[in-house]
Amino acid sequence: MGKLTVQLPDAQYDVHIGEYVYDLFSSDYKGLFQSADRVGIIADENAANLHLPILLEALQKADIAPLVKIVPPGEECKTKEVFFECHSYLINENFTRNSLLIAFGGGACGDLTGFVAATYMRGIRFVQCPTTILAHDSAVGGKTAINLPEGKNMVGSFHQPSAVLFNTTLLTTLPPREIRSGMAELIKHAFISDENWSKSLLEEETFSNPTEQWLAAELLKGIQVKADIVAEDEFEHSTRKFLNFGHTFGHAVEAVCGFGGLSHGECVAIGMAYSFILSERHGTIDEAFTNRFIRFAKKNGYSFDPVLEHPFGSFLVFMEKDKKAAFGEMNFVMLEQLGSPFVKKVSAVECEQAFFELRNRIGMGERS
Ligand code: NAD
Ligand code: ZN
Repeated sequence: MGKLTVQLPDAQYDVHIGEYVYDLFSSDYKGLFQSADRVGIIADENAANLHLPILLEALQKADIAPLVKIVPPGEECKTKEVFFECHSYLINENFTRNSLLIAFGGGACGDLTGFVAATYMRGIRFVQCPTTILAHDSAVGGKTAINLPEGKNMVGSFHQPSAVLFNTTLLTTLPPREIRSGMAELIKHAFISDENWSKSLLEEETFSNPTEQWLAAELLKGIQVKADIVAEDEFEHSTRKFLNFGHTFGHAVEAVCGFGGLSHGECVAIGMAYSFILSERHGTIDEAFTNRFIRFAKKNGYSFDPVLEHPFGSFLVFMEKDKKAAFGEMNFVMLEQLGSPFVKKVSAVECEQAFFELRNRIGMGERS
């Protein structure tokens, strides 16, 4: 079982990853749960259908009798309707400021549950039990949010969990696109932190079909990158921005293609290719490396079709709306070299040039 500690100025919590992490309910976390007058699980519908008995059984062994609130699967749960429904549920079930929530699902359910925990009676404790690969990213760091029709993650807060118990046996049921989604965030963590690790992932034959043991070790490395950055800059004033590598263009792709077409990480993979092109101009990333990444991504089932199917203007509209945009120029995370990120402003004209360059490279990737 892997373990690391997230150390923040006002909080500290452990992240555990592996096959047997739920055994910790009966040991390390017995005290935490005993101190709660009520325990509620907010569970993603799909994760619950597939795996809830595993969580319930482990809790039962620890003499914890939780209530369970099932919420719609994936992004559908991050609405204000579901958010208030959860609050009403907790009030009707007599949850108090001393109660504790468990988030059981992917990043969406974790974001919702975290925001419910952050706001219920001005804040109660919660534990993250992530069930997707991507959630190695989202379950750590304390960002919580729901969506509005006007935009994603528009209402939220920072609220750190009391613990993260990441049971890797649950990941075996993930569909390929969700594996690709999480693995894109994993390689992002490598790109922004470590050249050798990045290169070894690019050579990994089982990248899109990972074994559980290998994955647990790799995800722990990814979580360490996130934990270190969050420890340094909890509220995203500086280095936490590096975690947005690939996300400025990636979010635009997500918005243009309508949420639901490609998964979040698949869009981020396109965004990373775009950022590598910008990094050729502003850093020392070379053309051959960008092309290598594009080949790697295609080989692992990532699609670049949105870039060929939609005009640049469609993406620009969304990039200009990005939270990171300011005064007509867009902020991009780029790499000086692998492992060395920085943030730089880019004009719309340069963004357009990079877009057409990416289109060329996507075609070239097949030949070179
Ligand atoms: P998700 O939570 O939407 O889950 C993806 C799909 O997988 C859903 O259909 C879900 O029902 C299903 N699923 C969950 N566990 C499963 C399992 N074990 N087997 C089979 N299917 C399973 O997606 P995600 O990629 O985990 O998270 C994306 C969300 O995370 C977005 O809302 C994003 O905004 C958020 N996010 C938050 C942060 C943060 O720091 N808070 C960081 C990154 C992403
Ligand atoms: Zn992301």
